[in-house]
Amino acid sequence: MAITLEQVNTAPRAEALQLLDGLYEHSPWIADKALDARPFQSLAHLKHTMAQVLREAGRDAQVKLIQAHPELAGKAMVSKSLTAESTNEQGKARLTDCTPEEFATLQKLNADYNAKFGFPFILAVRGPRGDGLGKQQIIETFTRRLQNHPDFELQENLRNIHRVVELRLNDKFAAATAPGDDVWDWQETMSQYSDPGYLEKGQLTVTYLTDAHRACAAYISKTMRACGFDEVKIDAVGNVVGIYKAATPGAKTLLTGSHYDTVRNGGKYDGRLGIFVPMACVRELHRQGKRLPFNFEVVGFSEEEGQRYKATFLGSGALIGDFKPEWLDQKDADGITMREAMRNAGLKPEDIGKIKRDADNYLGFVEVHIEQGPVLNELDLPLGIVTSINGNVRYQCEVTGMASHAGTTPMNRRRDAAAAAAELLLYVERRAAQDGDSVGTVGMLQVPSGSINVVPGRCFFSLDLRAPVDAQRDALVADVLAELKNICERRGVHFTTELTERAAAAPSAPVWQQRWEAAVQSLGVPLHRMPSGAGHDAMKLHKVMPQAMLFVRGQNSGISHNPLESTTSDDIELAIQALMHLLTHLSPEKQ
Ligand SMILES: [Zn+2]
Repeated sequence: MAITLEQVNTAPRAEALQLLDGLYEHSPWIADKALDARPFQSLAHLKHTMAQVLREAGRDAQVKLIQAHPELAGKAMVSKSLTAESTNEQGKARLTDCTPEEFATLQKLNADYNAKFGFPFILAVRGPRGDGLGKQQIIETFTRRLQNHPDFELQENLRNIHRVVELRLNDKFAAATAPGDDVWDWQETMSQYSDPGYLEKGQLTVTYLTDAHRACAAYISKTMRACGFDEVKIDAVGNVVGIYKAATPGAKTLLTGSHYDTVRNGGKYDGRLGIFVPMACVRELHRQGKRLPFNFEVVGFSEEEGQRYKATFLGSGALIGDFKPEWLDQKDADGITMREAMRNAGLKPEDIGKIKRDADNYLGFVEVHIEQGPVLNELDLPLGIVTSINGNVRYQCEVTGMASHAGTTPMNRRRDAAAAAAELLLYVERRAAQDGDSVGTVGMLQVPSGSINVVPGRCFFSLDLRAPVDAQRDALVADVLAELKNICERRGVHFTTELTERAAAAPSAPVWQQRWEAAVQSLGVPLHRMPSGAGHDAMKLHKVMPQAMLFVRGQNSGISHNPLESTTSDDIELAIQALMHLLTHLSPEKQ
């Protein structure tokens, strides 16, 4: 029979420990120590507490725990000496019926992994949805992780152990993650639509107004209707707009949403999570026959990533009247103008001006988004509070020195353009790190028509500098440009810089940030506040209404813009609960 949190909180210690038996492999001390923190507010609270216990126990205890685990599809599985929990998990991943080839591959990986790291490879084989990874996925993950640094792999093993425990706890408590599972499934279903050239390779690419893009819009519309939205339509720029009406007419509207386009060979959750999570909330409200004191408008933004055309944020930009008619003449790689693409898709570009929202009718904008970074994953936290979307500045730079013979030019007579750029690159790294939360990147670095035996005469490079507030970003930019000048003067080379982008930081509206914080606290999940390094649709809405964002942890070190992007249905479930809390505790009179 399923146990309850109430039982764990109130039972005598020995009994409570018995209830939590079998969570961490042969290591009941973790649950035991966690019981010091009773009462637990939620299952998420209990999970996080145990993760903290292990974090604080230190490296020796962590390695010992890892070593207490059986090898994946190893001797213990063959001799049937696994714990009942492990047998269940390895069985769910169908590791118990490996072909001889698969078995041999896994044995080799086990041996290589053990030799490199000195502990066994651990993977939560039930996966992000809890229903089992495929054997091929397991072998790929194993192969990929063999390349990691030992310190990283130690932590990655621990994170997988926590995930195993999370699923074991769900079983014990018969915890339902049904809406989270559904959102996970919606994302999986929608990921079947991908642009030609990528679909065949099993990659996800959905760019503006392609057939795959329109199939996504149709899928979102259909799912919105099934959830119980009152109005669902596709607007002039291709946004899918769903409205769940307020209890009374004339009420203001809360806006939410994110984008459904992707980068090339991207992930399934970037953007889409912020459409499906609110849809799950509407479905729940509709099931309960409950209306909110405000309209709830969920928008699947048609374009954010700037993949097919140069212009970006077409979907959210149009809502604030920031859609420039000249963009319609931009051409894609095949020479198709945006105007033609819109007409082919049945959209009316002449109506784009009409979809601009009147901010006076809106309470604000909230956005749920996958973090796209490693922070929450490292902290064992499912959710994060966004304090600000970083402002950024981008430059294209060129250093000109003197190309000369690599053999005959003495080191003290060179005017090496690439060495100057390299010196600046290292300065950018140092200077951005000084701020703690600024970031600086030289992502493009080129010696045009360079040769192995020529001192570089020219070097192109890019600069991307970001910080949570504009003043901090501007100070960073000023220092970097001053250092570039110093370096170039000292080395006797010239430089030019061209500003290509400048976007203001978008700090969260304090009152909306607090609403997300209250929502996360209600789940018993510790608060973690962080800036967003990436740009989001909320940046656009920020120009006309208050906004705040919630981040959801990504798996695989939070990797994004990559097919390895992943999140669990448990974390999605918590995001749904957080948004539900925000919605049901928001009273428009108090604005
Ligand atoms: Zn995104």
